[in-house]
Amino acid sequence: MKKVTLKAVVNEELCIGCKICEKVCPVYAIQVNDRKAHSDPAKCMACANCADRCPRYAIKMVERDDPFEVGVDVSKFDYEEIRALCEKAHLNPEQVLCYCVGVRAEEVAAALLSGATTPEEVSAMTGMRTGCTIECIQPLLRLVQAAGNELHPNPNGYQWYGVTVTAWDMPEEVKEKYNSRGFYFDEDKALLDKVVKVRPEEEK
Ligand code: SF4
Ligand code: SF4
Repeated sequence: MKKVTLKAVVNEELCIGCKICEKVCPVYAIQVNDRKAHSDPAKCMACANCADRCPRYAIKMVERDDPFEVGVDVSKFDYEEIRALCEKAHLNPEQVLCYCVGVRAEEVAAALLSGATTPEEVSAMTGMRTGCTIECIQPLLRLVQAAGNELHPNPNGYQWYGVTVTAWDMPEEVKEKYNSRGFYFDEDKALLDKVVKVRPEEEK
């Protein structure tokens, strides 16, 4: 659960329309039209990415007079479905994915089960990736894919969804090559699969 207490406000006099803010917003809450940036306070999740990266210091984060909370109530979903989706992405449902906001894999799975199909929609529903906006992108992408969604480039043409190869995707010849150099991908995979599948009754 994230409480959003700030919003991005653009000073149009300073804005030069470079679109950097648009490219770094995790929820498409700021867009450039007619060479000026416009932020949408209803969508802004207060990550401050745009303000931090604007080369003209044209964006300020200001206190909202309408703070709101975002989060998905996991208890409203079939937990077996949540578990199955998380396991498909090689994640334990109780694993914290976004440390800035405190979002677990189960909440992301619940957002996807309730209709989110893109990383931006998951972020808007859960607050995930609206803190540092960097560290949690890979597990978020893995869950979005595990739910059967394709990762499309940003509609404005910016590609920023590079998915890194994991031990589950690595070709056998690559694994063999590195096994001789002291890497143990299959053993790592088996151990992580065990961790992912741990259920509360199995822990006792
Ligand atoms: S990053 Fe700053 S200067 Fe560039 S479009 Fe956004 S508000 Fe304008
Ligand atoms: S503060 Fe974050 S969420 Fe809000 S408009 Fe800027 S980049 Fe987007």
